Amino acid sequence: MTPLIEQYLDIKKQYKDSILFFRVGDFYEMFFQDAEVASKELDIVLTGKDCGTEERVPMAGIPFHSADSYISRLVAKGYKVAICEQMEDPKEAKGLVKRSVIKVITSGTIIDTAALDETSNNYLMSIYIDDGKYGLSSVDITTGELMATELASKEDLLNELIKFKPVEIITNKPEELESLLNYGSFVHKWDFFDYNIARDEIIRKFNVNSLEGLGLKYYERATRAIGALFMYIKATQMVASDNISEIKLYTISDYMIMDKNTINNLELLETYRSKEKKGSLLWVINKTSTPMGSRLIKKWLERPLLNIDEINKRLDAVEELVNNDEMREKLKACLKKIRDFERIMGRIVYKSANGRDLLFFNSSIVNLPEIKNIIQNAESDYLKELFNEIDPLEDVSSLIDSAISYDAPMTINDGNIIKDGYNEEVDKYRKASTEGKNWLAQLESEEREKTGIKNLKIKFNKVFGYYIEVTKSNIDMVPDYFIRKQTLANCERYVTEKLKEIENDILGAEEKVKELEYQLFVEIREKVAQQYKRVKASAEAIAQIDVLTSMAEVAKTNGYQRPILVEEKVIDIKVGRHPVIEKISDDIFVPNDTYMDTKEHMISLITGPNMAGKSTYMRQIALIVILAQMGSFVPADSAKIGIVDRIYTRIGATDDLSTGQSTFMVEMNEVANIVNNATDKSLIILDEVGRGTSTYDGISIAWAVVEYIAKKIKARTLFATHYHELVDIADELKCVKNYNIAVKEEDDKVVFLRKIMEGPTDKSYGIQVAKLAGLPETIIKKANQKLVELEKKHIYQKDSVEPIKQISIFDIGFDFKYYDLIEEIKSLDIDNMTPLQAINQLYKLKRALCD
Ligand code: ADP
Ligand code: MG
Repeated sequence: MTPLIEQYLDIKKQYKDSILFFRVGDFYEMFFQDAEVASKELDIVLTGKDCGTEERVPMAGIPFHSADSYISRLVAKGYKVAICEQMEDPKEAKGLVKRSVIKVITSGTIIDTAALDETSNNYLMSIYIDDGKYGLSSVDITTGELMATELASKEDLLNELIKFKPVEIITNKPEELESLLNYGSFVHKWDFFDYNIARDEIIRKFNVNSLEGLGLKYYERATRAIGALFMYIKATQMVASDNISEIKLYTISDYMIMDKNTINNLELLETYRSKEKKGSLLWVINKTSTPMGSRLIKKWLERPLLNIDEINKRLDAVEELVNNDEMREKLKACLKKIRDFERIMGRIVYKSANGRDLLFFNSSIVNLPEIKNIIQNAESDYLKELFNEIDPLEDVSSLIDSAISYDAPMTINDGNIIKDGYNEEVDKYRKASTEGKNWLAQLESEEREKTGIKNLKIKFNKVFGYYIEVTKSNIDMVPDYFIRKQTLANCERYVTEKLKEIENDILGAEEKVKELEYQLFVEIREKVAQQYKRVKASAEAIAQIDVLTSMAEVAKTNGYQRPILVEEKVIDIKVGRHPVIEKISDDIFVPNDTYMDTKEHMISLITGPNMAGKSTYMRQIALIVILAQMGSFVPADSAKIGIVDRIYTRIGATDDLSTGQSTFMVEMNEVANIVNNATDKSLIILDEVGRGTSTYDGISIAWAVVEYIAKKIKARTLFATHYHELVDIADELKCVKNYNIAVKEEDDKVVFLRKIMEGPTDKSYGIQVAKLAGLPETIIKKANQKLVELEKKHIYQKDSVEPIKQISIFDIGFDFKYYDLIEEIKSLDIDNMTPLQAINQLYKLKRALCD
């Protein structure tokens, strides 16, 4: 094998699970299997290379200057890419050029901002699994945000995965995660979750005496997860994760819990079916101006608060910005000028920022003093706090402004980065090289005169440096002191002693200035990098100001009002609207009131034909609660919201056929999850539950679920159904109230009034709706006939015992002690009982029933 391939194989050994980008001159080359994979995934030509072996080695290459886009494509497909560079100048190397890997890029550690969506965080998550419990830590290395928590169940883990959507996960037990992962995360096994190493690393990094100060003392699993992240970052970036300035330790009970179904069903971030942003709640409320703000508003939306003081703190700030038009508009105008300096800071810290990045960074931070100025007289505590947290970073800004040239190139070792006047030596070298150009021009005209060769030219190329070119026709006029270097078809090239001298001066100066500029740039970048804590504080403050301003703007333009948060378990909304439907529907939106508590108005049973507006009404209540608890104004004239700890939603099978799952089973699983986890502070929305099976089954299940919620959970619940048979449940349970959504019958058509009314509906109007939808007249006629027939039969059946039998268990009161009784009977081992034992058992059962 050739030495080059031997060197390659040697390095590749250490990066078996990565695609190795092996720098050779102006290319990154890939060999063997890497070449085959890259050729397929990147659509590049697969060639071969003679390597001293019998067969040519498969090879594929890409030019180094366009590597970024190829790398991000591979990374997006889940590959790791190891970047191997030449560590010395090939011109000066004796023998084989030294090479080594300078970083490994993975989907969770990529810091190339062009490859990332600026409105979302890019999380790398570390999950330490031990005995069914989880230590969880998530980091966005581009912004330096690090969070950690511990979880006790798989459900909780799932809910966190939904929120973070980590692009990459490292874990000690990948096999335990597989069933959970259809979120597009790439899972790698990682072995370094050692507690002592983690503890020492964290203590060293945050410069503390013990874990206690960081709140981590009793979080062993979380500590291991954090330690593993730091090690993984070091192993891939080859530098320490220096932009991480704090660990945000949280518990999931700080926030309202919403599971995947709820986030999806309520269309918080994207629409249910088409997965588009337009039509989601985020789409309506996100009027942020900066990437930091757009990332934060998503987090706030996914994590509504439970603490009334914290919510009011946000609401006070929003209210101030709603009322103070001048402050809001000035903020908005200034925020628009601020770009993603939080992420650029990541590139600065990880030493991959160039001169333009620094300029870009500066163009954002120069606006900080103005933002500070705008809110200096703010009255709300929150804005005052943010005023104090913004660091204007004027020193950093003026350093960049004085040092970095406005037209700095993308590269950092080709010069032209440092501004004139920043450094004397740079200025001196630059003068030499510009003067050198004058010397050349002078020499050219001198030589023309001396030799009489009118078209004699001084030119430059990379191989020969400067030379004098004389066309063939003038060769006989060339003097002795011209030294011939090269003969071409129609000209000859020469050098002279004098030319060589000038060349040395110019090239020497150019080389030196490039090297000096590079050194200066790295120093400046390092100086900026050291300010990461201050920059992070400002970036976070800007994100919050941006979100508050956005909430105020949305409240103002859409006519939202400030909600009142209370501990008491009520929901009292006047003139409430659906924030999204009112924006996208062509019809005028009809607002509705809502009153719920955990006593007489615990369960609202909403009947009404399809298309009446049941789903819309229920979602509107959930969305108003979520908005209120995230600290936003709400689409209603007034809203009193008793803190909700969890929102559950379940959409009946036929309403989400598009997912194509075995719907009834899925539906029942979800209902089970709801009834097992909801509390008396929760809000439950059941939309057409029980539809996935036959009518009587469906009615029975729906009935039983409502009863269970009423008796056991006592959660505020909205239940929509087109089974009008269910309305009878209100006669039995005081806490169930019947509502219907009004429709008017005109001739034999229905008109939807969209108004929620007390009391049940008596009809389902299915056929009228079908008619509205344009079904042929013959079908409508036949359906009407059939309906009359069926209704007759139904009345008959109501009197017989048949259908009643199916719901008989609920008729006997459905008290839960019967379940125990039934279980007890089932477990009796009658074959092995004496007659006396059997009779005793019978007495016991009778007593249990009659007490
Ligand atoms: P249901 O669940 O009763 O079948 P939906 O809630 O899906 O009905 O509502 C059907 C459509 O009616 C919605 O897509 C919406 O466009 C419209 N709609 C619902 N509620 C209202 C309302 N309050 N004002 C105006 N249009 C509404
Ligand atoms: Mg519906």
